[in-house]
Amino acid sequence: MSEKFDDAPAYRLETLAVRAGQERSQFGEHSEALYLTSSFVFKSAAQAAKRFSGEEEGNVYARFSNPTVTMFEERLAALEGAEDCVAMASGMAAIMAVCLAHLKQGDHIVASNSLFGATVQLFNNILSRTGITTTFVSHTDPAAWEAAIRPETKLFFLETPSNPLTEIADIRALTAIAHAHGILVAVDNCFCTPILQRPLEMGADLVVHSATKYIDGQGRVLGGAVCGPKKLTDEVFKYLRTAGPTLSAFNAWVLLKGLETMKLRVEAQSANAAKLAGWLEAHPKVARVFYPGLPSHPQYELAKSQQKSGGAIVSFELKGGREQAWTVVDNCHLLSITANLGDTKTTITHPATTTHGRITPEARAAAGISDGLLRIAVGLEALEDLQADLNRGLQLI
Ligand SMILES: *Cc1c(COP(=O)(O)O)cnc(C)c1O
Repeated sequence: MSEKFDDAPAYRLETLAVRAGQERSQFGEHSEALYLTSSFVFKSAAQAAKRFSGEEEGNVYARFSNPTVTMFEERLAALEGAEDCVAMASGMAAIMAVCLAHLKQGDHIVASNSLFGATVQLFNNILSRTGITTTFVSHTDPAAWEAAIRPETKLFFLETPSNPLTEIADIRALTAIAHAHGILVAVDNCFCTPILQRPLEMGADLVVHSATKYIDGQGRVLGGAVCGPKKLTDEVFKYLRTAGPTLSAFNAWVLLKGLETMKLRVEAQSANAAKLAGWLEAHPKVARVFYPGLPSHPQYELAKSQQKSGGAIVSFELKGGREQAWTVVDNCHLLSITANLGDTKTTITHPATTTHGRITPEARAAAGISDGLLRIAVGLEALEDLQADLNRGLQLI
């Protein structure tokens, strides 16, 4: 007999983070078990038949059910305030799953023009082959979203704050527009996590995650998830069951333990980022800082109305161009030169020559990505050490 955590009385986030979803086996393990098995055995032919038909609940085959994965799904659902969650192999797999579960040939997506790069590629180059088309519109202008709606529009897809300029999309306003036209809204909540932003409470229909970022938070494994009401996630589950972009049990176990410390990490990293952003803003070599937690951010009030804090991503423009930006990057001994984010270790990226290097200089300029722009994903190191590391290069320019 197994024993399941009962989250019936509404526990607080801290409690859910370490307890929700846990199912203890007959061995009474305190920490969640890792079930490395691809299939499950039945007591009889009759039980096998019932499990396959769905008449009896239980595990069948790990492409679509595994107890460790289920524990991760239930814990993340609890944190997002979602009825259900379906785990996926990666964040991109989760986005693809939302689209293929809810759209068909001829359908249309309206999406933010400042989405994660691979999401743009997915919509433009892969999904387009199935006859699903996408119109990209201004991240910050709800009227542009409304104007892009066609009779065949089925999905609004957004991500906020944007990368790397930390622009805020108004989740409540976009949801109201979408719902007036019977359109679903999916929000990629990777940058904020449910600790800082809960899109479902603001009306969004589905939340997608790259669990690779803050949910793991320690740069170890890839994972993804889709959260929402069961009537929508059931379609996602059917897609997973057949198409198989499955989260491995091992990765689920790593991510499940990641969720336990996510609140502490995200709050500490965000507090570190807020202080670093303030310091950068006052720095004589810095022209401009992009951080939703600074009153100088053009959407500071909107950010405050939908995020608990500014998050841990800070971008800034130097007084200078590519050469000066590279000088700062190359003089970092502590900050990791990598495009990854969400890690406890602080990372620094020069978007114009990495994440946004393949788009034309004109398109880059239109998107506001200048050659002097740097993005920092703030980790858990001491603020003073991060400042000293950045200052080494800043002094030289
Ligand atoms: C990383 C990322 C993704 C993709 O996630 P993977 O786990 O790398 O597939 C999607 N959206 C955002 C905002 C991301 O940062």
